[in-house]
Amino acid sequence: SREWHLVARPSGWPTDDDFALREAPIKEPAPGQVLVRNRCLSVDPYMRGRMNETKSYVPPFRLDEPMTGDAIGEVVASEAEGIEVGDLVLHQLGWREYATLPAAWVSAVPRGLDVPDTAFLGVLGMTGHTAYAGLKEVAKVREGDVVFVSGAAGAVGSVAGQLARLLGASRVIGSAGGPEKTRLLTEEYGFDTALDYKAAPIGAQLAEAAPDGIDVYFDNVGGDHLEAALDALNTFGRVAACGMISSYNDTEPSPAPRNLGLVVGKRLRIEGFLVMDHAALRETFLREAGEWVSTGRLRHRETVVEGIEHATDAFLRMMRGGNVGKMLVAVDG
Ligand code: NDP
Repeated sequence: SREWHLVARPSGWPTDDDFALREAPIKEPAPGQVLVRNRCLSVDPYMRGRMNETKSYVPPFRLDEPMTGDAIGEVVASEAEGIEVGDLVLHQLGWREYATLPAAWVSAVPRGLDVPDTAFLGVLGMTGHTAYAGLKEVAKVREGDVVFVSGAAGAVGSVAGQLARLLGASRVIGSAGGPEKTRLLTEEYGFDTALDYKAAPIGAQLAEAAPDGIDVYFDNVGGDHLEAALDALNTFGRVAACGMISSYNDTEPSPAPRNLGLVVGKRLRIEGFLVMDHAALRETFLREAGEWVSTGRLRHRETVVEGIEHATDAFLRMMRGGNVGKMLVAVDG
């Protein structure tokens, strides 16, 4: 069985030398365990943080051990009651072809919705749940809000933009890199306005797009985007600080936002959040968003890279913007 190990801690952008695809024996399941053949792996921005030595809300990946991440696979051997060979399960031992793990660490792929299984790694998985929690519990989007979402063509952002509308926003503005992505925002995901941050400075574009200001900013990017949003936010605006991907590969701290002081005068609420603290919302999210996905009101895309040997390429491509919607790896290619 092949598995990806982190073999060196990257400084700045990771390179091929930081990873190794290694062979390991397949472990037969002990009592209470299952053996899963992974079919599809998720690659996510937070994994970049786990490649650093620094302590964070999730521990660093260990060197010379398989990395972990969300995955969907098929049970090929089971020593656990209630789990049968052939069951499709979700779990967190991704980045490898086969995973042997306790039955308590897997959950059945939900049935009964007319959606592809991989939706549970994206729109109905962790990234969709993040968008939902950020809008509902952190930014508390309400009827009539003008909402700005950055990273809007990605997994979290594309769902956040559509959910904002479904939750009552009167206007939704999104930003992404390049004309193809911005076209997708307005044509497929129903954003009112799409800003291409690679074409012109985001601050001037946002000011022009929202002459009366914004009420909510869903931040996936940080830096210049957060700076632009702070200027545009109305008094008592709310920021759901979801991620700041523009700085994840920096070697030096970046200066923006230079206008952080506006938080005070405008009495802004900027709230960082982690999806794992919103586990109680998952059932409601699945019910509500599941219905929207299966009836076509919530659209989603995937970018699938074929072959486990290309998993680190897929991760880096995603970090550079080479994905629309959720970036996934099909293990067998
Ligand atoms: P995406 O699918 O959005 O992929 C990452 C995207 O980031 C790229 O496609 C690229 O799009 C964009 N990007 C990369 N560099 C820059 C830059 N310098 N400036 C602007 N955009 C950039 O990933 P996810 O949806 O999985 O994650 C989005 C954000 O949400 C991340 O910040 C992540 O860390 C965060 N997150 C937070 C969670 C939480 O619990 N708080 C949970 C899950 C995700 P483009 O081509 O438009 O540049």
